[in-house]
Amino acid sequence: MRYRLYNAKILSPNFESIIDGELHIDDKLISYIGDKLLSVESNDYDRQIDCHGDLLIPGLKNSHTHIFASFGRSKSDNLPLDRWLSEVIWPTEAKITGDDAYVLSLLGMAENIGCGVTGICDMYNHEIQRAKAASEIGIRIALTDSTNDFGGVDRIEDNYSILNSFDELVSYKLGFHAEYTTSKQLMQRISDIAHKYEEPIYVHNSETSKEVEDCLSRYNATPTEIMDSLGLFDYGGCGYHCVHFSDIDFEIFKKHDMVAVMNPCSNLKLASGIAPYYRFVDEGIKTAIGTDGQSSNNGNDIFREMYLTSVLNKVTSSDASKVNPIDVLKSATLGGCQCMRINNCGTLDVGSLADITVIDMTKPNMQPMLNPIANIVYSANPSNVKMTIVNGKILFEDGKFTTIDYDYVLKESNSICKRLYSL
Ligand SMILES: [Zn+2]
Repeated sequence: MRYRLYNAKILSPNFESIIDGELHIDDKLISYIGDKLLSVESNDYDRQIDCHGDLLIPGLKNSHTHIFASFGRSKSDNLPLDRWLSEVIWPTEAKITGDDAYVLSLLGMAENIGCGVTGICDMYNHEIQRAKAASEIGIRIALTDSTNDFGGVDRIEDNYSILNSFDELVSYKLGFHAEYTTSKQLMQRISDIAHKYEEPIYVHNSETSKEVEDCLSRYNATPTEIMDSLGLFDYGGCGYHCVHFSDIDFEIFKKHDMVAVMNPCSNLKLASGIAPYYRFVDEGIKTAIGTDGQSSNNGNDIFREMYLTSVLNKVTSSDASKVNPIDVLKSATLGGCQCMRINNCGTLDVGSLADITVIDMTKPNMQPMLNPIANIVYSANPSNVKMTIVNGKILFEDGKFTTIDYDYVLKESNSICKRLYSL
């Protein structure tokens, strides 16, 4: 398809200026960014869209979630992480079938697409069903492995070969749940696989103080240190949460050019703490932003995460000047591409993949447009998403999904949850 989006405001590749003009999409790629064209033939495009001054930004990325975790939304909201996992989430997950995971993944992906998210970094099991859901509705997804002592390692290499050739929108990354759920022997085995394929590792890391204290008493090393000592980060990787970090942990992330993924809403709700985003930025460590699962957040609203990433770090640094909204928007877009290792996608450039979020700037909370990027980070919410485009295809427009039968998803997902909880 060939699209012409005109009367648009377009975020420049350095995120520091806004271009008034138009952006064209030819199949999967951005083919033109520039001034208004003087002569346009109607048959040059499949569709011409008057953006009425709306802002085009690189597609937002949700760099850490558990996409079908909506089964646990508002089910148990007042437990700390360890009890929440062992008493509620894990027992319920054990009842989820592949078909359940597929439908609940559609629900989670719909929530993300409606929030302007074009790419998801998603850790869970039922990998094939999640890949199928993403491929069918057209969202980009990096599936990260969730192996732990309860199982999973035997399927890693099969998943690696099957899912990395499943669909151009789907990739599969090596990883495991967390140090506290994975024995040293198993972590070593996963490290050996990472070395065999020369791949990065994706893992929950230092989410709670208890996790770090327990690891210190087990190994006399932080989770980052013990994982690094096993060679797990020799090809880089991503840490989810990264709340309780030591000076050495920062050095390890810097040494291996790793990505720290912020999940502020989940960290607040589970009383885990506040991740030191500004220090990662100050030290030149790559950052991305995610929501974590709907069970612990309880939403997949990347705007809320951007806002919290910024304001929480103003509080912890006791410095209102800390945290530049441009850095935060870069983390939620370009940083997400770095996390998922999606090339040619994190900025709006001619030749880049056409993964674009269109923000309606006419809504009251986006006016006046004295600083559009600050408006997005501090004021925007999912109601400002006009359109979500992935790989040159419009997936969401004016509140409607173009590739999801939402009535079906709504009915089936409610039926699944009734069964899971025997309602
Ligand atoms: Zn998580």
